[in-house]
Amino acid sequence: MNFKQTSRWLCLVATHCLVTGAIAQKTGPVKFTVSMAEPANHTFHVTMDWNAAGSDTTLLKLPDWQPGYYQLMDYASNIDKVVVKDGKGNTLPWVKSGKNGWAIATKGVHDLHAEYDVKTTRKFVATSYLDEEHGYLTPASLFMHEAGKLKTPSEVTIKPFDGWNWVATGLDSVPGKVFTYVAPDFDILYDSPLLVGNLEELPAFKVKGIPHRFIGYKLGNFDRVRLMSDIQKIVEKASALIGDIPYKHYTFIAIGPGQGGIEHLNSTTISFSGDQLNSRGWNGMLGFITHEYFHHYNVKRIRPIELGPFDYDQGSKTNMLWVSEGLTVYYEPVIMRAAGLMGEQELLDFFKKQISNVETKPGRLFQTLAQASAETWSDGPFGRTGDAVNKTISYYQKGPAVGLLFDLAIRHETKNKRSLDDVMRNLYQDFYIKKGRGFTEEELRATIEGVAGTKLDELFSYIYTTAEPDYKKYLGYAGLDIDVTTDKHFGTFEITQKASPSPLEREIFRSWSRGE
Ligand SMILES: [Zn+2]
Repeated sequence: MNFKQTSRWLCLVATHCLVTGAIAQKTGPVKFTVSMAEPANHTFHVTMDWNAAGSDTTLLKLPDWQPGYYQLMDYASNIDKVVVKDGKGNTLPWVKSGKNGWAIATKGVHDLHAEYDVKTTRKFVATSYLDEEHGYLTPASLFMHEAGKLKTPSEVTIKPFDGWNWVATGLDSVPGKVFTYVAPDFDILYDSPLLVGNLEELPAFKVKGIPHRFIGYKLGNFDRVRLMSDIQKIVEKASALIGDIPYKHYTFIAIGPGQGGIEHLNSTTISFSGDQLNSRGWNGMLGFITHEYFHHYNVKRIRPIELGPFDYDQGSKTNMLWVSEGLTVYYEPVIMRAAGLMGEQELLDFFKKQISNVETKPGRLFQTLAQASAETWSDGPFGRTGDAVNKTISYYQKGPAVGLLFDLAIRHETKNKRSLDDVMRNLYQDFYIKKGRGFTEEELRATIEGVAGTKLDELFSYIYTTAEPDYKKYLGYAGLDIDVTTDKHFGTFEITQKASPSPLEREIFRSWSRGE
């Protein structure tokens, strides 16, 4: 997630599974349709058909949040006119179960059909929205699942409003069926937003033979060829950094003017318009796109152990959003620099701004990075507001500042043989590829210190305590200087180059500043 304040198959094969040797039950994907016949009413209509076990009660659930936006959203409050029927068309009674559950009386019923309306009220990247021009579907807010059956596959058919010609999504389509898509389980479904309307696709590109598409709504006026050329360079450098491209296709889904983006396994939704390219600056928008793209590694695959399987009811808290978000911000300028899209001074200015954002706010004395990570669920994505605003920090700001210190420390300790890039590669290989899971805080620390070849107690005190980071010392490893004491009064935090750096300092600066 990125949201800048100023400028985020159980038996797939249709088969008969014998249950207790007596009851034959059909299983298969849950089939959804989404229609939008009256977009002016801002309401989607969803139908759901599936096979159930015939137990006394079947519980349907709707997630309360979506991964990537760490806030409980109360999506269930937008659900209306729920009707459930059996295979013969008989209406089945249901009662609400908690905030986001529907308990249906289903004794002896195996074929179920449900339908409901989903009201949309907010045009935002983490909420579904429908109007006369387009529809944006965040699946966590639209599609119910049977409690305990998140591994069931699903099939989704979109019925666009009359005259709309396109559906953009990272989901695989079903050959021969119009606007119909499959998800192997509900985690994938909830990770795969859809955009519907009269959309535009920019010239696609391939990296290592893998197609990357950019499809959007109301794109506006800008240099389309240049944008796609720049995004291709970003994808090439980011994927080279990790050394693997784990998806079969990737789609940048531009949902129209606004703020914010959310990362997914093989797509991202970004607020985007040509006008914003002008107001935010070309590189400001490219940095945002780099951030969302790099997230498919860092947080979707390189991830804290708490971020999967997800707790769709309570949220999934972790102390490590400083890694998932903060280091993703760190890699924005690093990848853009490597891609030749950013100058050396622009790189230094990026970190000057992050350090200034941290050091000029009192929250740094009250909240640690680990606390900011876990407490975002109650604080809000950017720290608290109102009276508590001065008691919190943003991991979007202190995360990249500390990430810089980690990178320079590793380079210093290893005589510039290794870097934070090695940490990211090792986390990807050791946990995502080999173990198929996320990492604990202890495993993260062991990985970082393993790459550095030494304990890094002081750096970890910047994560778990409010100790003031020794910027001067760590920047010095790259032949850089910063006057934090004086600058605190003026908020400048200019990063300069030392007059006579050592050969190692010069070498570290050279490779770090080129994104190598
Ligand atoms: Zn993010």
